[in-house]
Amino acid sequence: MGPFTNTRIIFSILIFACLGALMNSFLLKIAKRYKTINQVLKHKYLRWIIATSLAISLILIVANFYVYYGFDYQPDIYRRGSLNSNQVTLTFDDGPSREYTAQILDILKEKNVKATFFMVGSHVEKYPEIAARIVDEGHEVGNHTYHHVNVPTLTQSKLTAEIIGTNKIVRQVTGETPTYLRPPRGMYDARYRRLAHLIGQEIVLWTISGRDWKKSTSASNIIARIVNKSKGGEIILLHDSGALIASEGGDHNALIQALPKVIDGLREKGLEIVPLKDFIDEAKGEDITHFEFNLVE
Ligand SMILES: [Zn+2]
Repeated sequence: MGPFTNTRIIFSILIFACLGALMNSFLLKIAKRYKTINQVLKHKYLRWIIATSLAISLILIVANFYVYYGFDYQPDIYRRGSLNSNQVTLTFDDGPSREYTAQILDILKEKNVKATFFMVGSHVEKYPEIAARIVDEGHEVGNHTYHHVNVPTLTQSKLTAEIIGTNKIVRQVTGETPTYLRPPRGMYDARYRRLAHLIGQEIVLWTISGRDWKKSTSASNIIARIVNKSKGGEIILLHDSGALIASEGGDHNALIQALPKVIDGLREKGLEIVPLKDFIDEAKGEDITHFEFNLVE
């Protein structure tokens, strides 16, 4: 903070200006080559508007990457397991839901798989019996905030309430305190990491998403995405509730159809599906042997 903030702002403006200028000259080059595009791009202001939009899009793409990977050393965040192992783990976000969680639990029981459910506090409050069943059947639980909110946009007190409130309701309903935290949409910040450290919960992201929340998806899409791509060390993200925008509901029938085949497919590839607790014992975030909690932001 302090003087660094100003440096950061100046640095960001400089990068933005350079990118804008770069895009502008890029557009000029394109205009020279194609006549029809030239008609549009010869208007100076229009060209700058397009160049600015391109620069903004590029920055957003980079920011999106930053949100997931961060620029700094983050030993406190689990993104994958050991690449040398043949183990993968299944995680389900956004539940519990009335329609789908029970069906998923039936499949997991039949296939003898233990998974982790990153639950939304308000959904636990709504469907306490389903949350209790998850724990009764030996699955692990994670905290996915109380209202499925974007962590970086919250005030400190709201952020604390989202995390502590979810731990409290999960504990009340299931008798277990969540071991893990997962921020909605993978968006976290330094305060979230500090809080996780303080209350002793591990932040767990994912490596492969089944994109099962997509309306247009199908069972075969989900199977292909996960089974074809998976290698050892994969943290697989699926959803027992939620859609693109809504944190609850959505149509998860494709996942229900796909799940038994996903489990079989992973096993046929020689991958072992293990609970998260066994999985992250093997490999820590970035390098746990030199764990130091030293956040400057
Ligand atoms: Zn979510």
